[in-house]
Amino acid sequence: MNKDIFRTTIAIIGAGFSGTLVAAHLLKNATFPIEIKIIERKSVMGKGVAYGTKYESHLLNVPAGKMSAFPDDPEHFLRWIKTRPDLAEIVKPDTFVPRKIYGEYIQTVLKEAEATSQYGRLERIKNEAIAIQADRDRVIVCLSTGEKFPAHKIVLALGNFPPSDPPIADRSFYTSLRYISYPWSPHALTDIEPNDAVLLIGSGLTMLDLAVALTEQGHQGEIHVVSRHGLLPHPHKFTKPYPAFLSSETAPKTIRSLFRVVRREVKNAIAQGDDWRAVLDSLRPITQQLWQQLPLDEQRRFLRHVRIYWEVHRHRVSPGVAEKVATMLNSGQMRVHAGRIQAYEEDADGVNVAIRKRQTTDTEVVRVGRVINCTGTECDYRKFQHPLIQNLRSQGLIRSDALAIGLDVAPNGALLDVDGVVSQNLYTLGPPRQGRLWETTAVPEIRVQAATLAKELMQTLSFHSSFLHN
Ligand SMILES: Cc1cc2nc3c(=O)[nH]c(=O)nc-3n(C[C@H](O)[C@H](O)[C@H](O)COP(=O)(O)OP(=O)(O)OC[C@H]3O[C@@H](n4cnc5c(N)ncnc54)[C@H](O)[C@@H]3O)c2cc1C
Repeated sequence: MNKDIFRTTIAIIGAGFSGTLVAAHLLKNATFPIEIKIIERKSVMGKGVAYGTKYESHLLNVPAGKMSAFPDDPEHFLRWIKTRPDLAEIVKPDTFVPRKIYGEYIQTVLKEAEATSQYGRLERIKNEAIAIQADRDRVIVCLSTGEKFPAHKIVLALGNFPPSDPPIADRSFYTSLRYISYPWSPHALTDIEPNDAVLLIGSGLTMLDLAVALTEQGHQGEIHVVSRHGLLPHPHKFTKPYPAFLSSETAPKTIRSLFRVVRREVKNAIAQGDDWRAVLDSLRPITQQLWQQLPLDEQRRFLRHVRIYWEVHRHRVSPGVAEKVATMLNSGQMRVHAGRIQAYEEDADGVNVAIRKRQTTDTEVVRVGRVINCTGTECDYRKFQHPLIQNLRSQGLIRSDALAIGLDVAPNGALLDVDGVVSQNLYTLGPPRQGRLWETTAVPEIRVQAATLAKELMQTLSFHSSFLHN
């Protein structure tokens, strides 16, 4: 008899922060023999898109004191920092640490959980999962190299997908070597001459990443930035905590009224010497609840009218990065255009990009050597060409949420199939839960999801395990 059927196996697809943390919790808390297979298509495990950067200037946008991987051990990251002679003296709880250091921390978290696990066994598989087949009470994971293996549960920790190309009538420029569609590629900034002008599409955190990385490599040329509103993320500022002024019971259920209340509170706060940031931060513990109790039409209204303002106020940038960007703006090296790209016209030496200015019929043409798409991660799962997503979609095993900003999930993270039936063996966490939770992409939210999901998996598998091992 195949001895595989006696093992309890959990497959985790994706070894960014989300997948790695689920694996670490399973290893730490397993109370029966369990095999965890973590599959990552990139050569580096445990870092994912955010923490796999090579640039020193890419800083966390949350201070070190709030970046523990474990919700019930808030000092964990700071204690790890103390073990590093190169960091121990310089990093304080309010320091914004380089993201690549945080990647090393996550890798250590996994290694330690693996080394001390009583019942868990971890297998790291460097491969791409391209399909999942249902097989009675188990599922089969199929890899790009042709291997397959069965698992009792699968966690899709697929994370951040590349941005979509901005819509435009003539898309031919998107095949040009001057166009970089994937801003997090390690090669996005190679072969740029120091004096070349560059156009960054999008003005959010990804754009700031690219701008400071250009500075790090000594770039002198102009940096043009274009986005519909031309708004940049605000910088962090240390503020004293602001008392809760809303609860899920008292909060209005329409976007207009909700933001009227928030604006009024901000006004009051500023009048008494507080900062608007503190007011917004006081909403964080209930943001998911506020989101969930909005009717679908109101959620749509938020995405259409408020999202952009929410993003630049809520997803703030470290003071160090903000300072660098201010220097670029003040010197004229960086120019921000509010508008939409109308056309690209490429010749042998560069590309002319026509930008229709916001709320006008005026067009400005900028000439650059490279164009980089920094519009942020695409989250409409109906569009993805990703082989695994196509496979799951074609079998009806997943569906987009009603807003098409993630996947439809049950409260425990189990995926809903095309008919809305809750899966017994497919789960997700992190960015794909955006439609359900809205606030789900940063470490403080994902670390809670990882701990809870691991517990849920252990509980649902414990029956299976006792059946096999008793
Ligand atoms: C640039 C950036 C900076 C950020 N900075 C911060 C910050 O400072 N503080 C904060 O709190 N949050 C930050 N975030 C948000 C948050 O921490 C990340 O979104 C989070 O790390 C998400 O982790 P993840 O594992 O879900 O996704 P990802 O990091 O995207 O990892 C998913 C992994 O899955 C792999 N994968 C996908 N499909 C397959 C497949 N079929 N087979 C095998 N492998 C696959 C990918 O290669 C990838 O490594 C940042 C996000 C980004 C994008």
